[in-house]
Amino acid sequence: MLDMSEQSPFVSIHILGVRVDAVTYRVVLDIIAQWIQQRTPHQIATTNPEFVMAAQQNAAFRQTLQQADLCVADGIGLLWAARRLGQRLPERVTGSDLVPLVASQAAQRGWRLFLLGAAPGVAEQTARQLEQQNPGLRIAGVYAGSPDAADAPAIVARVQAAQPDVLFVAYGAPAQDLWIARHKAELGVPVLMGVGGAFDHLVGVQRRAPVWLQRIHLEWLFRLVTQPWRWRRQLALPRFVWAVLRQGRRAAETTA
Ligand code: UDP
Repeated sequence: MLDMSEQSPFVSIHILGVRVDAVTYRVVLDIIAQWIQQRTPHQIATTNPEFVMAAQQNAAFRQTLQQADLCVADGIGLLWAARRLGQRLPERVTGSDLVPLVASQAAQRGWRLFLLGAAPGVAEQTARQLEQQNPGLRIAGVYAGSPDAADAPAIVARVQAAQPDVLFVAYGAPAQDLWIARHKAELGVPVLMGVGGAFDHLVGVQRRAPVWLQRIHLEWLFRLVTQPWRWRRQLALPRFVWAVLRQGRRAAETTA
């Protein structure tokens, strides 16, 4: 958590009891730079409506998000929900966009990145691509590994030896976020961020929705068509909409 003696640079809101922070890309990059100077571990989650619904059932996940240092709104549904509930989130901040933005800052400022997770070879391919796009970028390490507890000691040792400034963890939610919460103290990395399918998107293993579809807020439909096996997870979306509408109605009734 942020030190209470320092003024928080952002406002946190709650959507269905789950914390989301009102930040822009600019603010996130500034905060990351501060944390890297401070050297103490800080956790970033890329929250979306699936996270919010999973956190309704999973208390450990809900607590992890509550205790994270930053929970960005990685999902247009969260901006819609905030508006419905009379709150405001300034912009969508995605893990897939933050990874290259952080890499660009890293190349300029000398930060070292470690890419953990995704299928074998994908983190490596992502690192090579980021290096090509950002001359001078320093990659401290890449490793697929797994979120299984049995693999944790070896992964922790690898990351400790590499001493990165930023660790991206691509194990999907909630596994990546629980993994970071469990190991951040011993890892001692200043910035640890769960990034879901970001490496897959960046190297094109998994195509991301075209920008025009993202703009009309239909990225979820693209995912459903291109990754139909996700349908069960995506049921979280209509459930999310329904729960937000109900919460909005309840709030309106209590203030009436
Ligand atoms: N993944 C992994 N190990 C696992 C489970 C998942 O490395 O045991 C990776 C998977 O290869 C993918 C990412 O975690 O790169 C999860 O992607 P997904 O799109 O499901 O994540 P989301 O952004 O939806 O949480």
